[in-house]
Amino acid sequence: MKVLTLKTGYMAANAYIVYTENKPEAVIIDPGDDIELIMDLIKEHELKLEKILLTHGHFDHIGAVKDLKERTGAQVAIHKQEADFLTDPNKNLSYIINRQIVQDPADIFLEDGDLIRVADMEFKVLHTPGHTEGGVCYKLGKVLFTGDTLFEGSVGRTDLSGGSYEQLMSSIREKLLVLDDDHLVYPGHGRQTTIGRERRENPFLA
Ligand SMILES: [Zn+2]
Ligand SMILES: [Zn+2]
Repeated sequence: MKVLTLKTGYMAANAYIVYTENKPEAVIIDPGDDIELIMDLIKEHELKLEKILLTHGHFDHIGAVKDLKERTGAQVAIHKQEADFLTDPNKNLSYIINRQIVQDPADIFLEDGDLIRVADMEFKVLHTPGHTEGGVCYKLGKVLFTGDTLFEGSVGRTDLSGGSYEQLMSSIREKLLVLDDDHLVYPGHGRQTTIGRERRENPFLA
């Protein structure tokens, strides 16, 4: 499996393009808002984007969704409780940057435990509410894409609309910390880490 990491936008949100060797089909987790950078990487690696998987609907993760869908034909997936974030600037908080980010509605409405298959890859949906009510992480083998749920040395903020610190902590404990130490974590902001490292060193999980 290959993961291309790119940082996009004002909040330096991480976008991840995921594919396997010798197969063109690819997925992007949280495209952020730099459509040209994403399209350049897709062309450079001769990929065919099949799915746009969203960990949640905040503005810093969704800016390129509509353009990317138009230019690649990829389907957009988001948790069913988060669906209106794509179309409602008050929910996706884009007013914070004085913009009205409005995307098309999603194609796939996710629930906990759903499996998304692309080429040889199978992404399992882990519903992890707390940062937002419909926040999810995606698990692909021993790789986790955690959005704004878990970061290196930190956890997602819970003071925004729909946030709950208690819910976030139980999501992390019940869905993420039950996994073995060697699971790789690709967060929505900041550097890559592992479940083992966060279990030992993350001050919020002590
Ligand atoms: Zn967020
Ligand atoms: Zn974010």
